[in-house]
Amino acid sequence: MTSVIERLQSRAAGFSVEFFPPRDAADEAVLWRSIRELEPLDPAYVSITYGAGGSSRQGTIRSIARVATETTLVPMAHLTAVNHSVAELRHVIGSYAAVGVRNILALRGDPPGDPYGEWVPHPHGLRYAEELVTLVRSLGDFCVGVSAFPYGHPRSPDLATDTAHLVRKFAAGADFAIAQLFFEAEDFLRLRDRVCAAGCDKPIIPGIMPLTTPRTLAKTIELSAAEPPRWLVDRLRPLSDDPKSFRAAGLDVVTELCERLLAEGVPVLHFYTFNRSKATRELVNRLGLVRVGA
Ligand SMILES: Cc1cc2nc3c(=O)[nH]c(=O)nc-3n(C[C@H](O)[C@H](O)[C@H](O)COP(=O)(O)OP(=O)(O)OC[C@H]3O[C@@H](n4cnc5c(N)ncnc54)[C@H](O)[C@@H]3O)c2cc1C
Repeated sequence: MTSVIERLQSRAAGFSVEFFPPRDAADEAVLWRSIRELEPLDPAYVSITYGAGGSSRQGTIRSIARVATETTLVPMAHLTAVNHSVAELRHVIGSYAAVGVRNILALRGDPPGDPYGEWVPHPHGLRYAEELVTLVRSLGDFCVGVSAFPYGHPRSPDLATDTAHLVRKFAAGADFAIAQLFFEAEDFLRLRDRVCAAGCDKPIIPGIMPLTTPRTLAKTIELSAAEPPRWLVDRLRPLSDDPKSFRAAGLDVVTELCERLLAEGVPVLHFYTFNRSKATRELVNRLGLVRVGA
């Protein structure tokens, strides 16, 4: 099974996609239509997020197993330490390995219900993503990714501390990081510079949200935990009641952001898809990231 890091090293530039586990049969059909539509475009890898509840967690394992066994795509499974003992984490990692998934995005996760609530580790579990990286590494030949935060993780007291914790995750064995959503290329590039200045040259992949609707803009603001710049608000908010114009302007903004990031040598653009492929397909076509045969 190809590793994510091999995919990053073997290509000039490309894209990857993130899905979430389907909740029911209708969701599953939508997800699989999107996967099949994206498959010929040869994304570097396909990831599936990991939720807080038991059924959603089973959904991640089931979906990533299907990606591994029924498609030509390189699968990456997310995994969090939330409400898991170390024994359970070992079991999930074993389930991934059993279906041929060798790429894991190792995360701490947020407290279920309130992401800003008190983080209470499982009594027999882990406290930080760094420990999960070490655990995954100890269990086999896995390629491990971690998260990174252009504006700093909301719980970090300052950017220097946040950078130090990210560098510790790399030192624990992480091969690459995926950055949380951000608004301007400079925000991502400054994160990359901070990590580089700390003596670490592991790849960091920017997370990209196709801004097709006011909802996707609101989600970007929520996840980035930062205020959007004035120019972005001025460009998109007046179009909030005009879906077609909002989508067109939003995709223009994202195209410009991606072009700048590609010019700065990012290895891959990691697209949040909400399990739909249309906006991602449109963006990768515009950016010239579609490969032969697509
Ligand atoms: C690309 C991406 C994908 C994601 N996918 C999912 C998903 O599938 N499911 C999900 O539930 N969530 C997901 N998340 C959200 C993520 O779980 C949360 O942002 C969570 O709050 C932080 O996880 P982490 O792995 O960055 O934690 P950590 O790296 O453990 O950091 C958490 C906080 O602790 C601090 N810290 C880290 N190490 C130490 C240490 N040794 N000592 C003291 N402080 C420390 C950090 O600075 C930070 O403030 C994703 C985030 C990103 C960016």
